[in-house]
Amino acid sequence: MQETHTKTKIVVDRTLCDGNGNCAAAAPELFRLEQDDTLKVLRDMVDESQRAKAEAAVRVCPKAALKLVEER
Ligand code: SF4
Repeated sequence: MQETHTKTKIVVDRTLCDGNGNCAAAAPELFRLEQDDTLKVLRDMVDESQRAKAEAAVRVCPKAALKLVEER
């Protein structure tokens, strides 16, 4: 298998996010919900090993506020 060095950037649309915390529950190593319900992205660039977690967070977001952008 050819090795790729793709990095994925997690982008949060703050106008859509309502702070329900689903993403933090799905991927606590990537997201944290603060006391005031604002979402903190703990790692906004993820590597291949964390990509599945980031994708899981995108899937559970009911507001479609999360987007993954591949950077090379
Ligand atoms: S799951 Fe979506 S709406 Fe909920 S806190 Fe995360 S980004 Fe915001």
